[in-house]
Amino acid sequence: MNRAFRHFRRLEEGIKVALPTDENGLTGRECPKPECLGNFNVKFGTGLKGENLPCHCPYCGHIAPHDKFWTPEQNEYVHSIATNEVSKALKALTQDWDRDLRQRTKNSFIKMSMEFKGGHHPIRYYQEKQLETNVVCDSCTLEYSIYGVFAFCPDCGVHNSLQILHKNFELVEKEIVLAQNANDTELAKHLIEDGLENAVSAFDGFGRASCFAFADKASNKEQAKDISFQNIVNAKNRVQTLYGFNLAEPLDDEQWAFVARCFQKRHLLAHTMGVIDEDYIKKANDPSAVLGRKITIDAEEARQLINLLDIVGRNLHKSLSA
Ligand SMILES: [Zn+2]
Ligand SMILES: [Zn+2]
Repeated sequence: MNRAFRHFRRLEEGIKVALPTDENGLTGRECPKPECLGNFNVKFGTGLKGENLPCHCPYCGHIAPHDKFWTPEQNEYVHSIATNEVSKALKALTQDWDRDLRQRTKNSFIKMSMEFKGGHHPIRYYQEKQLETNVVCDSCTLEYSIYGVFAFCPDCGVHNSLQILHKNFELVEKEIVLAQNANDTELAKHLIEDGLENAVSAFDGFGRASCFAFADKASNKEQAKDISFQNIVNAKNRVQTLYGFNLAEPLDDEQWAFVARCFQKRHLLAHTMGVIDEDYIKKANDPSAVLGRKITIDAEEARQLINLLDIVGRNLHKSLSA
């Protein structure tokens, strides 16, 4: 009879199940934290190397071993394969016994046989979800995809806000180059203004996402999740109050005043088509400003803004994640 159990010995050694990936080779994951349950995909083998490394949820930052992040679909798939294998082994075992019984009772008065009546166990196939943003972590090279834009890297845990900021500033730089090469002065002006607005929007998105991600470190978590960076002077005060550091610290007074003025210019571009109002005169500290006239922005100004915001951004990211 022992021979018959060979079908199960194979199962005892464990069933290796290869999980299907999406078309780019990414495997789905789901945060086990009940309040989160966020879905993301990772490409195994592209990030940190080593055994038993933990996984970070890109959305809430929850850290747990990798095997806690299986999706319900993956669990069902693995379960259905295991059930199928057990069923197959039982069927094979029954057939062996049946053959044996028939052989032994061949010449006796009572004939014996055996039949396996196991049900059918379909494999629960699934497809990984297509998410919104593909990221290659610039700290550990992990390829992953997420909903939204901002995230912690599932492997090394570094928040990608600075990476996204740099990507956006590269686009602004391209706009500035386009403007400088444009023969049409109207178009050139438009591109520079657009570049300035985009630089401010990118920094606003970056600042908000960074403060949101590290809200736990703030003196008031809810307020930290709601800091706007469209007005950089207000943002500086809020960061000082909630996180206890100076956003302007890496710049000298003149550089900070320049940044603040650029943000005021963005405000005019967004709300008055660039026409100078009293609020601008009061706040922008711009000696060339004349009420009712249009503000001017040149390529070097826009370029200087992204250089300075890069310095402020790096410092904000470092201070928050320290
Ligand atoms: Zn989570
Ligand atoms: Zn990483």
